[in-house]
Amino acid sequence: MLKMIPKSHPRYSSLRQRDLLLEGYKAGATSIAGLIAFGRGEAFDYLLGEKTPKSALPAIEASAALLLTAEKPVISVNGNTTVLCPRELVELASTLGAKLEINLFYRTEERIKVIETLLRRNGADKVYGARPDTEVAGLESERRRVDSKGIASADVVFVALEDGDRTEALVKSGKKVIALDLNPLSRTAKTADITIVDNIIRAVPLLIETVKKLKHTDKAELEKIVSNYDNQKILKSAVTEIQRSLKKSSTQ
Ligand code: ATP
Ligand code: MG
Repeated sequence: MLKMIPKSHPRYSSLRQRDLLLEGYKAGATSIAGLIAFGRGEAFDYLLGEKTPKSALPAIEASAALLLTAEKPVISVNGNTTVLCPRELVELASTLGAKLEINLFYRTEERIKVIETLLRRNGADKVYGARPDTEVAGLESERRRVDSKGIASADVVFVALEDGDRTEALVKSGKKVIALDLNPLSRTAKTADITIVDNIIRAVPLLIETVKKLKHTDKAELEKIVSNYDNQKILKSAVTEIQRSLKKSSTQ
């Protein structure tokens, strides 16, 4: 389908993302609800002018620092995140020495298999999530089922396009949570320790770049970056950026 869209089309990036989601749905990686969740994200991206807001940069830097100081970092993936940027998620995990774990709200063994195959095709070695052996406390959805060697024992978990319930449960269980969410008003955005308000398509490459840049920075310096970071302030700035962008386009 994408072949029909010329690269010069002003909405090429947005149309390409829709195409990835639709192909992902046909392949059995994404759920119908995943398509709706993507639509909510798209609306916020439109309000941001479809570019990385300035406020995302300190959040990306703090995320890189936190992931680099983590003992057991885990990158949690789902259908949407995998079809949108599989190679980048695998690269992020391998650059950090982090584990990849599939965690689905609409969990079926078939979907897990399709997502795992997609990740492997993009260079992943071990992928967790197919055989969960424990649960996250205080969570009723299928998302509660995790691997004791993955999310359950992680100290830092990176989540994207996430549900507020699980973010809350992960934070309550004592983990540091980094969330990637285009909506600065979502429960996920408000509950996470660090929230990157940006499209996953743009933010993960920036995060990889920042991890590579900070990789040889000493631990004390990285910890300082994390402790100086203020998520409430960053979320407020993201909302202000949306307000400004709205004002600008409504007066044009
Ligand atoms: P919450 O439970 O945290 O309030 P929600 O119920 O509004 O969240 P969900 O449908 O559970 O949202 O999850 C989708 C979230 O992912 C939305 O907040 C949406 O903005 C975000 N999202 C969708 N597509 C993208 C994308 N490409 N990049 C980043 N975030 C995205
Ligand atoms: Mg929700």
